[in-house]
Amino acid sequence: MKNKKVTVIGLGNSGLNAALLLKDLGALVRVTEGSDNAGVRKNAAILDEKRVAYETGRHTKDFIKDSELVVVSPGVEDSSPAVRWADDLNVPIISEMELGYRYCKGKIIAITGTNGKSTVTTLIGEILKGGEIDTVVCGNIGNSLCGEIGRINKGTWVVLEVSSFQLERVVDFKPAIAVILNITDDHMDRYDKFDGYFNEKLKIFKNQGAEDLLILNRDAKELAGLEKKARSKTLYYSRLQATNGSYLKGNEIVCAAGTGTEEDVCGLLDIKLKGLHNIENVLACVLAGALAGVKPASMKDTVKNFTGLRHRFETVSIIDGVEYIDDSKGTTVDSTLRALESCTRPVILIAGGKDKNSDYSLVRDIVRERVKCLVLIGEAKSRIRGLLGGVVETREAATMQKAVELSRALAKTGDLVLLSPMCSSFDMFKDYKERADAFRKAVLGLGAG
Ligand code: ADP
Repeated sequence: MKNKKVTVIGLGNSGLNAALLLKDLGALVRVTEGSDNAGVRKNAAILDEKRVAYETGRHTKDFIKDSELVVVSPGVEDSSPAVRWADDLNVPIISEMELGYRYCKGKIIAITGTNGKSTVTTLIGEILKGGEIDTVVCGNIGNSLCGEIGRINKGTWVVLEVSSFQLERVVDFKPAIAVILNITDDHMDRYDKFDGYFNEKLKIFKNQGAEDLLILNRDAKELAGLEKKARSKTLYYSRLQATNGSYLKGNEIVCAAGTGTEEDVCGLLDIKLKGLHNIENVLACVLAGALAGVKPASMKDTVKNFTGLRHRFETVSIIDGVEYIDDSKGTTVDSTLRALESCTRPVILIAGGKDKNSDYSLVRDIVRERVKCLVLIGEAKSRIRGLLGGVVETREAATMQKAVELSRALAKTGDLVLLSPMCSSFDMFKDYKERADAFRKAVLGLGAG
């Protein structure tokens, strides 16, 4: 990279860390960022300190024209003018993750899927740390791979959460272990067709060789047959049948990988997370842990102590016999489907937000079965009403506060009020955490009242 002219597109966490890594490597770095907000300005101040040139609030062609390489942040779409110029001028473009990969000395476990990535990434990280393995957890979960390169040594296992956006523009990226949890409808506002999104996800194993491993969820129908496309050895996990990896045997999670003989890891009662999907998640984690050499007894301890991440089917409070559940991270149709599957009492479902052009009709049956009333918020209100409105009583609310108050009025003792939006939050909130905070505040306000 010494003296190479490199331009980074995007100045979020990934872009910033890519630029700082490039600067350390001796490249002549510049950053171009189309927006200009508080977060961008904070990162720009760091670039000032490090004497990295940048522009914000616009993209100019000069930043791309004489570049020898362009590094693109995952949030930047192909339609961005800066990406289009680079494409037109035949400047090679790689993703931030690809750049990090090229300088990563450790072994990578990469996790992708539509839902469950953060939960699985975190738990694999805990399992490895519990097994006293030098571990770095990073990627889409918040801290980019480029920002962690300094902490990664030859013996380090890197547990990397990978989104489809990060897989766009990978070239040589090749994890030692790739994990695919599921691939269901999402991001139909960024990809033309489901196939486009699906195929991006498959890039996680496209460079793998016979020495690498691919972990697949045997119970996810959409993943059937993928092993034929992989050069790596495929291992499976399943809740429903015995496999060459990990599976549920009665009430026991067992693993047949690692040592080659079937070993008990933990019981279902050891899992603190709710829902069948979380049993699948634990199976994936146990398999990855065993392959990294962690002993079953150690994995059991870690699983027992893992209570899950915030805003993923998290009980906020029980007020007048009504349980209020925050699943604000339920930003896809399938995550809400899985949340509803985990509900055994009548549900008042608060849904809606920024529409990703999702197919809400996929939850029609389960809504009919488990939901007694839909309370819709945000931009997606009318599309959701169009696709689900006829199924159950459907109401609308202008704010989260009003949605919670309305839900309370509709709920009877024993009911559940579930915030699981099926949509992203950016129409009304900064992110899913701010949306969760608004829900929590409104719920706790009810209690005070
Ligand atoms: P991601 O990082 O892929 O968004 P998270 O672990 O943050 O995944 O969970 C996001 C949402 O998906 C939450 O609502 C969670 O309850 C749900 N979820 C978690 N694991 C799964 C799974 N295996 N299948 C479907 N939904 C899941």
